[in-house]
Amino acid sequence: MNLGKLLSNGYANIQKNYQSREVEKKDFYRAGSAGCYTDGKFYGSCPRKSVHRRNLIQAPADFELHMIFTSGFAHEANLINLLLSSNKVEKVEVYDIPEHFTTNHPKLVLNTNSLIKEIPNTNIKISGRPDIVYTTIDGQVMGVEAKANTTEGKAMGASVCPYIAAICQAALYKDILNIDYQITYGCAASFGRFYFNTDIKSGKAPSEKEYPLLEYRKFPSGQYIKVPPSIYSYNIAIAKDGVVHTEKYGEGYVATPITIQGIYEFYKEVDKSIQNKILPDRPTDFELNGKVKYSSCQYCEYKDACDNYDKESKNIEVRAAQLPIGVASTMYSEIYDRYLKEVTSLVDIKKQQLEIEN
Ligand code: SF4
Repeated sequence: MNLGKLLSNGYANIQKNYQSREVEKKDFYRAGSAGCYTDGKFYGSCPRKSVHRRNLIQAPADFELHMIFTSGFAHEANLINLLLSSNKVEKVEVYDIPEHFTTNHPKLVLNTNSLIKEIPNTNIKISGRPDIVYTTIDGQVMGVEAKANTTEGKAMGASVCPYIAAICQAALYKDILNIDYQITYGCAASFGRFYFNTDIKSGKAPSEKEYPLLEYRKFPSGQYIKVPPSIYSYNIAIAKDGVVHTEKYGEGYVATPITIQGIYEFYKEVDKSIQNKILPDRPTDFELNGKVKYSSCQYCEYKDACDNYDKESKNIEVRAAQLPIGVASTMYSEIYDRYLKEVTSLVDIKKQQLEIEN
C-alpha cells in the first residue's frame, strides 16, 4: 500500500469535508477567529479574514498547513488520552472531534453540537467548538484550548505567554461557558519548509548526534535561530472589569490588553464593516512578550488583494470631500465587492488544485 498516496488523498478528502461543513455555518461568526477591538484597533485574529469567513470564503489548507493542524490534533488527542487516564479526572467532553480520533472510553463524552452565543441587541451569532472540557473528581470544570506550535513557538513567544488570538478565543469560550479555562501549546515536529538545518557559525548542517532534538529556523531577517521542542500551559482569568489575565502555570496572573467587552466589540465592528461594505482595518500585530512583532500580512495569501484595496480606498478618502453626496460610499462598496471577488477567485484556484491532487 502506498502510504504517501493515502496521506495526500486523506488530506484532500479532509479538506473537502471541511469546506462542505463551512457552508453550514453561513449565519455565524466563528469563535475560532476571535479578536479584540479596543481604542480603535484590532488585535488577535485578522478582522478581514472574519469578513471572508462570514462570506464563506475560506481557502482549503495547503498540505504543510494541514500537517501543522494534524500535529495540533495529535496534541489534542494526546491530552485527551492523558486526561482520560488520570485518576483526578471524572469526565472529558470533546466538541470538535478530529477525523483521526475515535474512542469509546467510559469517561469520554462526544459533543457534536457547536456552542452558540448571540450578542444581545444585535443580529450577531457566534458559533464555536471548544477543544476539551474536563471535570475533575473535585467537581472543577475546566475548558482547554489545545494549540499546536511548531518548534519555532519557543522563539516566537509562546514560551512567555499565549498568542493574542488564542487568548481571545479562550476568553470567549470561558465567558460563554462560565468555567475555568486553560491554553496549552504542544510542540510539533519540524516542517520541512521552515527548517534549514544549517549551523549559524559554520554554515554547515549540525549533526543529529550533536543536536538530537534541536532545530534551526531561518527568520525573515535571515537570522538562524535554534528552537528546541516545547510544551507550555497557561491559565486564563477574566477580572470583574472584563480585563483578561493570563498565568504561566503557577507563576501568578498578569493583565493583558484584552477585555471581554473588546472581544464582543470585535464582532460588532466586523459586522458593521460587512453591512457598510467597507473592509475593517488590518490587525495591529504585537505579542505580549514585548519582543515579537509578528506581521500576519507578511505571510498572508490575500496580501496583494488587501494592498490593492487599501490603495484604492485611500484614493477615495483623499477625494471624498470633492465628490457628490453618496458617490464616495458607492465607490467604497464597489472596491469592497472587487476585493471579495479577488479573494474568492484565489480560494477557487486552491479548491481546483485540491480536485486535481485528489
Ligand atoms: S493581508 Fe493582512 S489584512 Fe489582509 S487578510 Fe491577510 S492578514 Fe488580514
